[in-house]
Amino acid sequence: MAQALAELSVPVQAAKEAAKRARQRRPMYFAQAVSFLLDSAILCLYHLAGTTDARVAVAYATAGIGWTGLMWAASEVHLTDRFRDHYLSVPQSLGSVTIQLIAVYLAPEVGFYFVSILFIVQGFGALRMSARQAASVWTFASVGLTLLFACTDEPIAMPMATPAERHLALLCFVTALGRCAFTGLYGSSLREMLYKRGKELKEAHARIEELAQVDELTGLLSRRYIMRALNEEISRASRSGTPCSVAIIDLDFFKRINDGYGHPIGDEVLRSFAISVAANIRTVDKLGRYGGEEFLLILPDAPQDHAVKVVDRIREIIGETNWDAIGGGLKVTMSAGVSQLRSDEAPDDVLARADMALYRAKDAGRNRVST
Ligand code: GH3
Ligand code: MG
Ligand code: MG
Repeated sequence: MAQALAELSVPVQAAKEAAKRARQRRPMYFAQAVSFLLDSAILCLYHLAGTTDARVAVAYATAGIGWTGLMWAASEVHLTDRFRDHYLSVPQSLGSVTIQLIAVYLAPEVGFYFVSILFIVQGFGALRMSARQAASVWTFASVGLTLLFACTDEPIAMPMATPAERHLALLCFVTALGRCAFTGLYGSSLREMLYKRGKELKEAHARIEELAQVDELTGLLSRRYIMRALNEEISRASRSGTPCSVAIIDLDFFKRINDGYGHPIGDEVLRSFAISVAANIRTVDKLGRYGGEEFLLILPDAPQDHAVKVVDRIREIIGETNWDAIGGGLKVTMSAGVSQLRSDEAPDDVLARADMALYRAKDAGRNRVST
């Protein structure tokens, strides 16, 4: 059932993701459509000023809006999703460059304007491109311009003869500059988003590290981390030449507690036991859950006889604790095997000795500490 649900949720998840991507692309098509409409409106004004034919504005608007609409439609039906860059920055830019180049060719009397738009197309497109892609668009635009310059000797004009034309030239520059600023802002918003994502990822990673470090039931160090701590202590002890002891502590007849009182009470015993031990060791000592009802205690700067005293005191405290609040008539005892680290010893060796000592403590009747 759970597997069937999981299988069902995969296409649902993919559809949600595709819808989200399409939503992300919309502002780009919208901005592009607005840009083409703005250019067309300025071309209309040029027509009113007597500089260009009305057909220039109409043809430019048709080409620009048609191209944007085509890309937008492809985006909405998710045709663009199969590509790594689902914004299709390269084809998108090539289409826009082509429109500007043809516009310069057909209406060189306001050619400067279309050339200035080329800069915006190249700059905006490059925000989502690799260096190679940006270079390919630049090459395409450069070859196009070269052909244009070769094919016609008409001047690429910036009409300034009348006051209306002077004002329109000014308007062209002001709107082009505005679009450059928008491109820059868009770039910095992308950078901001990447920075935020990176920060979130870092935080999530730190949280995962923290979770992996702690044993969920007892709040002590997990097995992985207590083993890491043991390795560190071994290196530290061999560097400084100070003694270090380890103890493996195991609850006695824990299976009986589970069987007699139930698993949740067993869990509660493990939790309370962990709190009691943690409260009776030094801050430099390290305590971790080694297995089910087995714990590993590392005592830096402690020779074996001192470690035995510490662990035996813990044993007494556990044995004398009144566990009635957790389970009526409940008795909990522990056995432990203690061993001191020998110089240049591997963790497994000292653990094997402590384990052997624990086995002896169990064998000798439990509720005791052996070395
Ligand atoms: P001994 O004195 O020889 O150590 O006997 P024991 O019963 O403690 O040892 P044994 O290894 O036979 O049983 C350990 C039990 O601990 C069995 C297992 O179900 C229980 N246990 C392991 N992990 C957990 C846990 O997280 N919660 C609970 N409630 N029980 C656990
Ligand atoms: Mg046990
Ligand atoms: Mg055990």
